[in-house]
Amino acid sequence: RAKKDGRNAYRFFTSEMQAQSARALLLENALRRALERKQLSLHYQPQASLDADGETRIVGAEALLRWHHPELGWVSPAEFIPIAESSGLILPIGEWVLREALCQLRAWDEIGLPELTMAVNLSAVQFRHDDLPELVGRLLGEIGMPAGRLELELTEGAAMDDPAMAITVMNELHERGVRLSIDDFGTGYSSLSYLKKFRVSKLKIDQSFVRDLTEDVEDCAIVDAVIRMAAALGLETLAEGVETEGQLAFLRRHGCRAVQGYLFSRPLPADAFAEFVLSRTMVSV
Ligand code: C2E
Ligand code: MG
Ligand code: MG
Ligand code: MG
Repeated sequence: RAKKDGRNAYRFFTSEMQAQSARALLLENALRRALERKQLSLHYQPQASLDADGETRIVGAEALLRWHHPELGWVSPAEFIPIAESSGLILPIGEWVLREALCQLRAWDEIGLPELTMAVNLSAVQFRHDDLPELVGRLLGEIGMPAGRLELELTEGAAMDDPAMAITVMNELHERGVRLSIDDFGTGYSSLSYLKKFRVSKLKIDQSFVRDLTEDVEDCAIVDAVIRMAAALGLETLAEGVETEGQLAFLRRHGCRAVQGYLFSRPLPADAFAEFVLSRTMVSV
């Protein structure tokens, strides 16, 4: 009897694994054609600064990749980014994201939006690729955007994978005037001693620490410590996943100067983002 149960459990396990790898294969093949078939798009989430006078101002956007497949529907980046990475597709897709985001930023300038920064997520695979600083420099030149308007987001894992290489690439990007931030800070493993060697200007506090802020004393302590440490190291902090006024008040009180989250807005298509920024600018005028 025990043996029979065991065998069933085993069968269930393998069929689930088979289904998973079949889905991964299906997605990989579909992703190969996603770019040319124009199934990829970017949504933009506002980033707000918390000014000393208590005002919040939209100062930037984070570009977030979206994939709509005619039969599969919307596929989450959490599912397809790892597939894009393991298949190498992240290189052409990542280049498209950078170009598209910078072109959008230029278009927003042209219709009179305030000067925003554009944050673009980088995969570890792109970061390790030799040409990254050159590619970024070339795109900025082609599109005619000052490097200081671009911010590249990197996870701790991508940086700590090969810290010596990371330092070289960060220095090259820094020399070109591009700003770097550490995404999902606190969830990966990063040696604090590297924080002073890495050419980053911002730590993005992961949303998992922000979610229960004001109720969970440990999260409060962690967020407070990260903000203080960052300030002591001359780094900015941006809190991700801010959904409530309570979280915002805590962050403001503890010296965090920038936030992003559903409290302000979900990621929006480009036109809706522009409308959102313009309507907020009108209100405060
Ligand atoms: P991320 O860069 O940390 O992006 C933040 C994620 O949190 C986004 O999910 C965003 O929609 C979500 N979010 C923002 N505010 C809130 C909030 O208040 N509450 C909650 N619960 N969630 C919030 P999304 O768009 O599904 O992206 C997931 C991840 O996929 C990103 O995490 C990033 O790591 C990756 N990703 C997205 N676009 C790209 C891309 O162009 N290139 C690369 N390499 N990775 C990307
Ligand atoms: Mg990000
Ligand atoms: Mg994040
Ligand atoms: Mg993330």
